[in-house]
Formats: sequence, C-alpha cells, structure tokens
Amino acid sequence: MAGPLTVRPRAAVVGAGPAGLMAAEVLAEAGAAVDVYDAMPSAGRKFLLAGIGGLNITHSEPPEPFLARYGDRAGELAPLLAAFGAPSVRTWAKGLGIDTFVGSSGRVFPKEMKAAPLLRAWLQRLRGQGVRLHMRHRWQGWEENGALAFEAPAGRIVHRHDAVVLALGGASWPRLGSDAAWVPRLAARGVRVEPLVPANCGFEVDWSPHFRARFAGQPVRAVTLDMADERGGWRRGGEFVVSAYGVEGSLIYAASARLRQAIAGRGSVQLRLDLTPGLDLERVTRELAWPRGSKSLSNHLRARIKVDGVKAGLLREVVPAADFHEPARLARWVKSLPLTLHAPRPIDEAISSAGGVAFEAMDAHGMLRGLPGVFCAGEMLDWEAPTGGYLLTACLASGRWSGQGAVRWLAQRAPGPIAGA
Ligand SMILES: Cc1cc2nc3c(=O)[nH]c(=O)nc-3n(C[C@H](O)[C@H](O)[C@H](O)COP(=O)(O)OP(=O)(O)OC[C@H]3O[C@@H](n4cnc5c(N)ncnc54)[C@H](O)[C@@H]3O)c2cc1C
Repeated sequence: MAGPLTVRPRAAVVGAGPAGLMAAEVLAEAGAAVDVYDAMPSAGRKFLLAGIGGLNITHSEPPEPFLARYGDRAGELAPLLAAFGAPSVRTWAKGLGIDTFVGSSGRVFPKEMKAAPLLRAWLQRLRGQGVRLHMRHRWQGWEENGALAFEAPAGRIVHRHDAVVLALGGASWPRLGSDAAWVPRLAARGVRVEPLVPANCGFEVDWSPHFRARFAGQPVRAVTLDMADERGGWRRGGEFVVSAYGVEGSLIYAASARLRQAIAGRGSVQLRLDLTPGLDLERVTRELAWPRGSKSLSNHLRARIKVDGVKAGLLREVVPAADFHEPARLARWVKSLPLTLHAPRPIDEAISSAGGVAFEAMDAHGMLRGLPGVFCAGEMLDWEAPTGGYLLTACLASGRWSGQGAVRWLAQRAPGPIAGA
C-alpha cells in the first residue's frame, strides 16, 4: 500500500470576496497550497464598498432571531451559523487586530467603521500563510480534462487543482466583479441554480412630479410598515427613504423579499404606513379633532401629532383633499396610509441578490453533487437576508463551511499533508 503523499494538495479558490478569502484561510491553515483567483485588479471590492456604510459585519441579537432573518433558508444555514455565527465573526475580526462594537440598533461594526484595515490585515495574514493571489484572472469554466480556464493578462491559462471552491458572488453591483457570468457555466454542468433576483433593493412608486421634486432623498423616520401576502401579515417599525423612483432604505430592505415575491405574483403590492406608531387611532382622532382656530392644517398636524415635512407630504400625496377636513377619516389615513409598489429596482442597483446555487445541488459539506471536488460559498448560494450584518456573516460562515468541506475532500485523497477533516 502506498504511504502518505508528500506533495501538498493544491486548492483553487475562485472569487476573492469575503466568502472566498475565508475558504482560502481554512484551506491554508490545513496545509493545502492555495491559489486565489479573481477577475478584478484587487480583492474584496464589494467588501470595501460595504465599508463605506461603516461595515456592518454582524448583528448582536440572540441566535434564534438571528437565524430567522434567513427566512426560508434558515434550516440550511443553521449548522453553518452554529459553527461560525456572530460571536465567531467578532472573535475572528479581533484576531486580525480589529475591535468591534455594538451600535444602538444592535448592529456590529469595526471600531474604525471601515473595511480597508480589516481587509489589509486579512490579506497580509493570508499571504503569510502562503496563499497566492492571482488578480485579473477571470474564470471561464472548465477544460475537458477538468482544469480551470482563466482569461489572464498574459492570455488564456489553465490550471489543475485537487479541490476548487467557487465564491463568485451574486449579481448586484456587477462593476465590482460579481457579474453572475458563472450561472450558465454551472447550469450547463447540470447544477440547479435558482434565478438571481434583487434583494435589499428599492421599489418603484408612481410619485407625482411635485412630491418627487420636493421630497426625493428625504428619510421618513419612525414609521411602522404593514403588508399582507399569502403567508400572512408582516409588520415592522423603522425608517426608509423616499427616492426619485420610489422607496428604499432599511425598512424597505427588511421587507424586500416579501415585497418582491408579492409583486412577482400580483404585479404590484400595497403596503400600509403608520405615520404615528406612538399614538393610537383614538388618540390621533382626538388630537386632530382639536379646534385649530386660525392655524393652517400643516401647523395643526405638526402641533397635534408631530406629522410634518415628508410625512405630511406623503399624506398630501395619497389622501383625498376632502378627508383633510374630517378628523376621524384623516386619523385613519395617518394610521394606515397605503402605498402601492410596482416593481423592484434592477438587480445591479441592489445591495445583494437572492437565488443562486440550490442547497439541494450540494452535499452536507458544500460540494456540488454533480461535480466532485468543486465547492460553493457566499452570496452565490440560494439564500437571502436583510441588511444588518446578516449578509457578511453568512458569507463568512459559508466560506468556512465550504473550505472545511474542501479540506475534508483533500484529506480523503492525501491524508499525509492535510491536517484535519
Ligand atoms: C453598497 C453595499 C453595501 C453593503 N453593505 C453591507 C454591510 O454593511 N453588511 C453586510 O453584511 N453586507 C453588506 N453588503 C453585502 C456584502 O458586501 C456581500 O453580501 C458580500 O460581499 C458577498 O460576498 P461574496 O464573497 O459571496 O461575494 P463578493 O464579495 O461579490 O465577491 C465575489 C468575487 O468573485 C469575483 N468573481 C466573480 N466572477 C468571477 C470570475 N468569473 N472570475 C474570477 N473572479 C470572479 C468578483 O470579482 C468578486 O471579487 C453590501 C453590499 C453592497 C453592494
């Protein structure tokens, strides 16, 4: 019987975003010779963009509500997040010299509110572990013999590896590298890929030209959003932003999966806004019924129920003029103002995408069932989550999972040089 191999197995990671870099780290720690390829001139471009918003890297809420943020895919992601959830993300960042803090919303950020220092430290550590980064290498698929083919500065090149992790990202912001060109390549190999659709995206509303000109760009703070679909009701408080095309921002993003699905089924969706969540209908009715004397209606709304600016603009946009003089009717509008959303904005504007490689197409270790030795990770998998740090956490967790899967695969083939399985 042959003894253990002495040659280190070679692993390729395609995609140098957070998922791919995490897979590379796991593979390098286990003793594999790791090559990371990326089409862009530098690593982690979308990660760096996320840093412009402060890099919300994870969330501090307890594991159960945290997991529920992944909706229909919570079951599939549960073991990955149990192995590497929010506390692990924070410990891992600390290991790179990056302290984190919990913001007032429960979101977790690096103290410096930037991605660049973390990415710099991470790439340095990876290089120290022997990971070789090959930028401007656009993966183009497989050769007949199973080698990976790349379009590189020197022309077309091919490389053979013992294991491959694909971490090619979703389809949002394609100019940062994740252009979803991998979809037909994997589909042609029989891999089930759910269509990529926008997630955490804005939605279109037919604003009047006057409303759009006056209020586009303004935040609508402290409201409650209600919607109902086939699954029942959805209600949450927060804030959103009026944009020229419609609505966007955290509260809309949180509802975006349900809104998108409802629009796909019915062509449009109506949500309802409560403009004064702190005051019940009876109180609003009472306040509005106060004699306003010579005060303008705008001043009356501001003084009695603190509705002014963009909130008052929304009322004027939607409510028939006659109802402004009927306190009971106006109060009902204030507590339940309908907005009709017609379409999600295009995927290239979205913060993330839903859809991707179906979990059913992979085994329990992240390996594609039809392509032995090929693993997938990150946003290219079929899951979605709202903003709040859930995206990066699942990217890192799945990068770790598929990296460990690849280590296990290599260890079965070359037990000598590879540590752990
Ligand atoms: C504006 C914005 C703000 C965000 N803010 C946050 C936030 O605060 N918190 C949060 O949790 N998430 C945030 N996200 C989402 C988060 O950045 C992504 O979910 C995450 O980067 C996805 O990681 P990934 O490694 O799966 O893919 P990506 O980061 O997209 O990396 C994929 C890599 O694959 C490469 N690639 C693709 N195709 C090829 C190919 N054919 N050949 C070679 N290389 C290829 C790409 O160049 C890219 O480098 C934000 C996203 C955006 C757009």
